[in-house]
Amino acid sequence: MRRFVRSTLGFSVLVALLTVVLSAGEPLAHVYWNVGYKIFQRNAPAGIVLITLNDRPRWTAAELAELLNRLRRQMPRRVYFDAAIPTGENARDDAALTKAIRSFGDDITFVARGEKVDTFNSISFAMPPRRIIGSARVAVSTWQTNFLDFAVAAPYQVLVGGRSYPTLSTELAGVHSAFERSYFPDFAVDPATIPRFASQRLIDYDMPTSILAGRTVIVTAPDRVAAARYFGHATVPAVALDVAGAEGLARPFSLSLGQTFGSLPILALVVVLVAAGARTHRRRKAAFYALAVLATFVLPMPLRLQGIVFAPDCALIFLAVYGSLRLWQKRTRRIQLTSASGLPNLLALAADPLPVGSDLVVGVIARYEEMLATLPRDLHGECARQIARRISAGSGTATIYHGEGGQFGWSEEARPLEMQLDHLEGLRALFAAPLTIGSHTFDTNIHFGLDRNEGFDTLTRVNSALASANEALSNGRAIELFEANRLAEAPWELSLHARIEEGLRNGDIWLAYQPQWNIAENRICGAEALIRWNHPTRGPITPDAFILQAERAGRIDALTYWVLDLAITAALALNARGPRFQMSVNLSAQMVDKPDLVSNFANIVNRRGIDPALLTVEVTETSSLRNRPAACQNLTKLRELGFRLSIDDFGTGEASLAYLADLPSDELKIDRRFVSRITSSPRDATIVANTIALAHALGQLVVAEGIENPETLAMLREMGCDLAQGYHLGRPQAFDLLEQEYDANLNMIRSA
Ligand code: C2E
Ligand code: MG
Ligand code: MG
Repeated sequence: MRRFVRSTLGFSVLVALLTVVLSAGEPLAHVYWNVGYKIFQRNAPAGIVLITLNDRPRWTAAELAELLNRLRRQMPRRVYFDAAIPTGENARDDAALTKAIRSFGDDITFVARGEKVDTFNSISFAMPPRRIIGSARVAVSTWQTNFLDFAVAAPYQVLVGGRSYPTLSTELAGVHSAFERSYFPDFAVDPATIPRFASQRLIDYDMPTSILAGRTVIVTAPDRVAAARYFGHATVPAVALDVAGAEGLARPFSLSLGQTFGSLPILALVVVLVAAGARTHRRRKAAFYALAVLATFVLPMPLRLQGIVFAPDCALIFLAVYGSLRLWQKRTRRIQLTSASGLPNLLALAADPLPVGSDLVVGVIARYEEMLATLPRDLHGECARQIARRISAGSGTATIYHGEGGQFGWSEEARPLEMQLDHLEGLRALFAAPLTIGSHTFDTNIHFGLDRNEGFDTLTRVNSALASANEALSNGRAIELFEANRLAEAPWELSLHARIEEGLRNGDIWLAYQPQWNIAENRICGAEALIRWNHPTRGPITPDAFILQAERAGRIDALTYWVLDLAITAALALNARGPRFQMSVNLSAQMVDKPDLVSNFANIVNRRGIDPALLTVEVTETSSLRNRPAACQNLTKLRELGFRLSIDDFGTGEASLAYLADLPSDELKIDRRFVSRITSSPRDATIVANTIALAHALGQLVVAEGIENPETLAMLREMGCDLAQGYHLGRPQAFDLLEQEYDANLNMIRSA
């Protein structure tokens, strides 16, 4: 139920039902009927003729008697007298009138009108005086109205003074029913077309007999204006409503659920049509929606002309609400599915159904961020579009989807693997030619991730191809094929974003601190903050595994600032206890280039009021800084702000020495792969000893990582290494443990 209400359809139905309860749709229905009856307007039936008493301001009993006598001679089928009867002028004239009336026998009926429109049975009627009309029939006329006093229905009969009188319409139509309560006038009758003649013509013998003979004649006073209004015309002569009523009674049906619920049937029909449309595919969808609109706008009127009163108002409200919600959703979705370059993005690729038998390819452009950093902003979109055009030309695919970075995705007809790889190699060759954007020229390269796992949902496949492409990029390989057995991981990776949030919230993600020792002074002088994740179901997840995923999921920024903030808290606490305590944090290679990195770091240290010199930022080498001007700039600025810089895992990256040359660093951390082997491998010992010398020559401090035994530590002391870190000296641990260890170490030094 909750989900139904949250859905667009459910919400729209609810709003429509609310308008039913509040009768809020009545104005809409009102406009609809007015317009509808105007459109379907037709001439009045020829069988009813009006004689209008408009020649004299007042008629005496004698004059009326004379008129009735003349009328009777025209041999009408039946006469209805719908005017006031003058009485009490003189007995002779009254008697003449009574005589004239009697002469009609049963063929004359007098009309009593309700003074005002009201509920059916509680109206006062101006009844004609029995003294004059004798036992002649009396019919009444009264209307049930809508909120604007427009007539909507009428009763078959009305109780007046304990007697039941038929309504004029039922008399005119010759339809009587003791069972049905009300009927619905047919306002399509154009009141102006009811044949009418001035009474003077009767008096003057100026009427051919054929006009009135055999007809129903209503003698009516012109000032008898209908108390209720008439759809399509508003104010009409009173008798027009009765004629419309008689026409309504001639319809085959007389069905309504009342003013409140009369809109439910059309609403139900339209909701069913729209729901069916929402479930089917494009062309049929349009057909269902068209039917829904027809059912709303067109159906009620012909139904009403047959006597079935189903109002369109709630269906109209439903369509309006549903339609605008859908349009709005479509618009926001279009924005969501478009990348900044104006090309559809990878989410759009995942949302579009893939043709059967297709491979999914994602190409990542090497050094894309660098290109953007060099280009003025207004050319960024052009850069993406040019790459997309090149891919499109090479792959023969019309639509290329663009991720926010240098990722481009598309689907291709699945070929045999060999052919597909050849094809992609060919596409890669197209990128050998440099890209020219504006006045800038770039040498670039493309790496592909290929997903051939048909049968998996598209979102999973896009992510698989994307992950493979990133892997190809970082391994420097041309093409990486996504293996299906890794798909099991995909949902986990996809939801990583949410899981990291959750982990941070509930404390599953926490920060461990590994002490760093000053070798010469044999004291703890700092710590490295290392992130930890104890996942409730997956157990401990190593940072190596989830840092990479966090980078892919775009969560690394938040995670880094979270670490920095916490590490600062720890550093402030430990610095309050004794001599200078240095805190190291790791900076993901992905983040080094970020334009807001420096300002964010600066803001955090300002806010926390810590001297940045107490913080060491560890960076690992991924590619030469010379090719990454933004990274080099950021690191230089961080150092200018006062942060210490450390080159982590020295000796393992592609460009260790280049890093050392380009980066104004303070510290170098020799990777544990070399350190752990110095006791067993003389070659590694030589490398480490010389690295220490080199670093010292460049004015750097040296940290040795991964010291697991006292022998290794002794050798490093020998070699003049400055700082030591490793399981032998202290494992990464929770802050309380580090604090205890630090206190113990301080006490030991003080007592020595
Ligand atoms: P790293 O910066 O080189 O961190 C040192 C790693 O060596 C840590 O692994 C530490 O637990 C481990 N280690 C320390 N002493 C010894 C030893 O004696 N023997 C052995 N075998 N290992 C030792 P950990 O915590 O698994 O971290 C792995 C990597 O994850 C780190 O390498 C770092 O690059 C990254 N990392 C950890 N925390 C963060 C973080 O907050 N942000 C970022 N961006 N990366 C982090
Ligand atoms: Mg580190
Ligand atoms: Mg390291």
